[in-house]
Amino acid sequence: MDDRQLIEDLYSIAKPWFVSRVVLDPGTMRLDAYLDHDESCRWQCPTCQKEYCVSDHVKERVWRDLDSGIYHVYLHARIPRVQCPEHGKMQVTLPWTEKHSRFSMRFESLALRLMGDMDIKNSALILGITWFQAHGIMQRAVRRGLARKSSTPSRIGIDEKSYGKGHRYMTLVFNHDNLGVDFIVLGRREESLDQYYRSIGKDASSRINAVSLDMWDPYIASTRKHVESAHSKMVFDRFHIMKHMNMAVDGVRRQESALPKTREMLKKTRYIWLYSHENLPEKYRERYEELKQSDLKTARAYAIKENLRKLWTCESEDEARDFWRRWYWWASHSRLKPVIEAARTMLHYLYGILSYFTHRITNAMVEGMNSKIATVQKMAYGYRNLEHLKTAIYFHCGNLDMKF
Ligand SMILES: [Zn+2]
Repeated sequence: MDDRQLIEDLYSIAKPWFVSRVVLDPGTMRLDAYLDHDESCRWQCPTCQKEYCVSDHVKERVWRDLDSGIYHVYLHARIPRVQCPEHGKMQVTLPWTEKHSRFSMRFESLALRLMGDMDIKNSALILGITWFQAHGIMQRAVRRGLARKSSTPSRIGIDEKSYGKGHRYMTLVFNHDNLGVDFIVLGRREESLDQYYRSIGKDASSRINAVSLDMWDPYIASTRKHVESAHSKMVFDRFHIMKHMNMAVDGVRRQESALPKTREMLKKTRYIWLYSHENLPEKYRERYEELKQSDLKTARAYAIKENLRKLWTCESEDEARDFWRRWYWWASHSRLKPVIEAARTMLHYLYGILSYFTHRITNAMVEGMNSKIATVQKMAYGYRNLEHLKTAIYFHCGNLDMKF
């Protein structure tokens, strides 16, 4: 077997292509394989698949393929063009690579597997390519995946996420059905979310069945504009609601801490009040029991907050509505200003709190996804560029079909 045949077998170079020359350079650790094709072969127009004789070639291109031992392997070829009467002069499709890529599909597949498990920097180091080349491979994979998406979600979750330094935000839309990130856009304004609804189109937007989101007016306004009967489809996320309650408890604590009488007792208790009863770390337990028995206003606010969590354990919307009436009466008569304000906010958004009992969705899945995204951000030291970060999030969390 000669070296050309060996390379054809190793790299599955099949008819009409063949290896015409192999150059091995131990100095640079390069193996260059030059490909050529049968003259008589007919080629398909990539658009209409009709067959033509070769018209001419574009000048030689080089593609990096998988290594052979310690050698980096490069394929060289001139790409044939056909003259299609309908589509004009077209480059034919090559079996080893995608258009515009400088790598073979085999090489890209390996790169994608590496980047699935580690950051771009280390993947690039192992592959012997630059960060930007590796990122380009990721970007093409994401484009393939996005182009293949055929269905639009019926239930979505919307969340904001800060990125980079300072207070810059992006809006993420999650698909509750396949647990993937469906859309990423800069900003957290009404217009930001409008872009998502516009991207999936009028019909798909109006067909959405349920939307989980924070009590954030710009998102609510956008959803009302694009989703039919949005009022009954929006579910305000319970974790966000509890976050508002936690802030109310903290507000009471801060007010009470300012008073000389209670300052000492409340010292270093800020985090204790943020925990739910059953998640409280053991080290706080004793102090907590003591505080709970006290006549602190903060303890009362905490009890009101903890009680609210029972709302989501109700069996039905009717039961939840009864629970809410009792809870609201208690909270609004508590004489604790931050608690009263939080309760009023919730009353304003009650429709989307009780709709949980129809749709039963929360952004809990989204929260899990958020920690995955945080890892992506951490892994990618260089993601001050939002476009790069978006690509990485789609790649790791988009649940896309990115295969060749
Ligand atoms: Zn054609």
